This record gives sequence, C-alpha cells and structure tokens, in this order.
Amino acid sequence: MTISHVAVIGAGLAGLTCARELAAAGVQVRLYDKSRGPGGRLSTRHSPAGPFDHGGADFAASGSDFAQQVSQWTEAGWLAGVDDARHTGVGGMNALPRALAQGLAVQLDTEIAAIEPAGEGRWQLRAHQPVPGLAEQVFDAVVVAVPAEQAVPLLGVAPALAEGVRPVRSEPTWTVMAAWPLALPARSERLQPASGPLREARRDDTRPGRERVAGVGCRWVLHATPDWSANNLDAPPDQVLRRLLDAFGEALGVRLARPAHAVAHRWRYAQVPQPLSEPCSWEATLRIGACGDTWHATGKAEGIERAWLSGRALARAMQAT
Ligand SMILES: Cc1cc2nc3c(=O)[nH]c(=O)nc-3n(C[C@H](O)[C@H](O)[C@H](O)COP(=O)(O)OP(=O)(O)OC[C@H]3O[C@@H](n4cnc5c(N)ncnc54)[C@H](O)[C@@H]3O)c2cc1C
Repeated sequence: MTISHVAVIGAGLAGLTCARELAAAGVQVRLYDKSRGPGGRLSTRHSPAGPFDHGGADFAASGSDFAQQVSQWTEAGWLAGVDDARHTGVGGMNALPRALAQGLAVQLDTEIAAIEPAGEGRWQLRAHQPVPGLAEQVFDAVVVAVPAEQAVPLLGVAPALAEGVRPVRSEPTWTVMAAWPLALPARSERLQPASGPLREARRDDTRPGRERVAGVGCRWVLHATPDWSANNLDAPPDQVLRRLLDAFGEALGVRLARPAHAVAHRWRYAQVPQPLSEPCSWEATLRIGACGDTWHATGKAEGIERAWLSGRALARAMQAT
C-alpha cells in the first residue's frame, strides 16, 4: 500500500520533523497534540513578568547533519547563538517549533487515547474527549512522537514496538520560573551548583530577542537535579518553590529578595538518560512507527538533536517502505 495519508501524534520537534519530511515528499499529514501549542518540551511559558523558556532552552549540535540544519534555521532567523557552541530560539525557544509548524495541519488540544483499526489495514484515532470529524479521518500510517512512557499505551496495536519502548525511563525535572524587579548579583548567567537540589540556574531575559517587561529587572529559570525531582515528585509546588529559591540564594551567596513572580512546574518526563540506540521504531507491515528523544543514542547528541534525527529517520524509513 502506498502511504499517502499519515497521522502524527505529538507535535514536538520529532513529530514536526517527521511531518515536514513526509509533507515535502507529497504525503498528506495531520498532527495531533494535547497541548495548546506545538513544541512539546521546547516550551515558552508566558507570564505577567514576561516569557520563560522552562523546558529545553538551548542545545549544541554534535553531528554534521544537525549542525547544517541548525545553520539553516539560524539563517531563517529562528535561532541565535547563546555562546560559541549553543543555540536558542529568537524571542523564545518555542519560536523554532512554531516556525516548523507553519503550513502543517496541526490539531491542538486533542489528546489521543488510542489507535484503532479502520479496516483494510488502515487506522483511525480515538481521542479522550469527542473531537468533531476525527472518526471520519482514516490513515494509511500512524506516527507516535511522544515520550516513551506515553507511547507505550498508544502502541497497544503494535505490541512489538510497545515492548521495545517499555524499558525506557524518562527523568523528571522540577523547574522554577522567577522574576525580580532588579538584576541579581550573579557572577555568571548560568550557574551549575556542585551540590544541593539545583542542577542549573539560568538567566532567561538576556537571551536573543527576549521581551523586556517594565518593572522586571531579571528572569531566571531554575532546574532541580533529576534525583531531587524524583524524590520530591509529589511535593506541593509551594514547597518546591521555597526549596529551590533557597538553593538559588545559597548558590548566589546572598539572601534573596522575594521574587515579584515565581511559579513551579513539574516535568514528569523531562530527559532520557539512556535512549535506545535504534534511530526510530517502524513496523512496516502495520505501518505504525515511533520517534522522539527516546531513540537515536549517538555520540554526544542531546535530547533536541536526537528528537530531530529520530523524526527524520522515521520519515525516511516510511518512504523506503
Ligand atoms: C527542563 C528540561 C530541560 C531540557 N534541557 C535540554 C537541553 O539542555 N538540551 C537538549 O537537547 N534537550 C533538553 N531537554 C530535552 C528536550 O526538550 C527534548 O529532548 C525534546 O524537546 C524532545 O522532543 P520530542 O518531540 O521527542 O518530544 P516532546 O517535545 O515531548 O513532544 C511530544 C508531544 O506529544 C504531545 N503528546 C503526548 N501525549 C499525547 C497524546 N496522547 N495525544 C496527543 N499529544 C500528545 C505532547 O503534548 C508534546 O507536545 C530538556 C527538557 C526539559 C523538560
């Protein structure tokens, strides 16, 4: 069967990359995402104190293919350097997925519950809430582009794929977004304390193209370590906020003034410490595939690079079928 109509579940970098490759080859693609916007973990949270990049906020390119892609995105004005090695979105990390989603059919606020047979080897999707028109959409192939733990239940129709993904574990991250009326006395805009609950504290408002907000002197994003996040996964957000702000004050060596704005966010599935070595999963007989940062362990590639490589690899495997 020729693959001419594909559903992609998940409009993060992997799903968007896969969808763009397929669309460029003339395949009709429709993406579904449970969130209000595309991008997944490349997320920019808006607040009265301005935007915060509270997920994957910058990255390096370890391989030549990704480096070439990053150069093209930079030339297009979507990315800029934060230093010699790392890149971020212009105006916010979410600028990249928003640009990549242009021209694609992306249905947001739609959480897919199951992939179901539609007869003659085709598939349809069922959402958690009724979605007008969804039952009439029939696909030749389905791509699952979500974190491993969320992929397993969706891959129930392809048990071999589900079993391959099941052992993968994502690490959680508790993140705090905080703003102060004046700049803080930090010796660097990125602190990585050697001990304590904080993995990293990063100044966010001085990055390329970030919005300035009157009365806001600085915005910082604080990420807890994976261990601390796992041990405090169900802690109340207020408690997490206090503990991480205290740790930030200790890292700065000052008694921190009360922030004008501070919110804690829990990423249950933030990063994958031990990704699979395969580039992606593709079951050609069923025409179901999966991609994302769960796959493509290669050299020093970080999650963002792996998501891109994996989405591209799956699109190529599908076209070679
Ligand atoms: C705090 C934090 C810091 C990070 N730091 C870095 C870093 O420094 N460098 C780096 O390279 N990477 C970093 N990452 C990781 C990086 O963001 C990810 O590896 C990458 O964005 C993964 O992309 P993806 O497309 O595979 O998955 P995602 O971005 O998670 O996309 C999956 C999408 O699927 C959607 N979805 C899930 N289930 C369903 C469903 N049932 N129905 C519909 N939609 C669904 C989600 O809403 C989401 O949009 C960080 C991540 C976090 C959270």
